[in-house]
Amino acid sequence: MNLVLMGLPGAGKGTQAERIVEKYNIPHISTGDMFRAAMKEGTELGLKAKSFMDQGQLVPDEVTIGIVRERLEKEDCKNGFLLDGFPRTVPQAEALEQMLEDLGRKIDYVINVNVDQSILMERLTGRRICKDCGSTYHLVFNPPSEEGVCDKCGGELYQRADDNEETVGNRLEVNVKQSKPLLDFYESKGYLQNIDGQQPIGEVFTDIEKLLGGLA
Ligand SMILES: [Zn+2]
Repeated sequence: MNLVLMGLPGAGKGTQAERIVEKYNIPHISTGDMFRAAMKEGTELGLKAKSFMDQGQLVPDEVTIGIVRERLEKEDCKNGFLLDGFPRTVPQAEALEQMLEDLGRKIDYVINVNVDQSILMERLTGRRICKDCGSTYHLVFNPPSEEGVCDKCGGELYQRADDNEETVGNRLEVNVKQSKPLLDFYESKGYLQNIDGQQPIGEVFTDIEKLLGGLA
């Protein structure tokens, strides 16, 4: 079961990733974890990546791709993997195709957890935090009983600057622009499976299970 997971911020990709790896017993391979592991093990590529990151530079594709390759060759990936955060670009996706071909494997599905941008805005801008005790609330999913007031301590609730509409809107735009060519690429390969991420979390996972059931 060789999977790539995609979804915009707020789409609930992380929750679905947790459920997929637990149910199907495949490793969750996120870019951040992979980099950290390679650096910790001190592999040649890990050290290369570290030298770029220490200088505040982007890690070049050839290094990133090498690290992915080393990761996918590990024993725990022999029954499959869930890639999350890689690939980010079409050249990376093409490199992944080549890498898997070399390993005698292929992607089964690219699962895209699909949610309308207006709903993502609502999800991502709804967070409120208590000034006094740091408790978090959400206007839609976990509202305080009295607007603007912390249930636990009566403190005032505020919105973090990162959560305002403009910042969130920009972040979504950047992500949409970045993922569009990748989604088109995987659509053209016939791997892309759009899952309706606007349903309750359990139903989103049920749809994923139905899709993956065909692979077993
Ligand atoms: Zn409080």
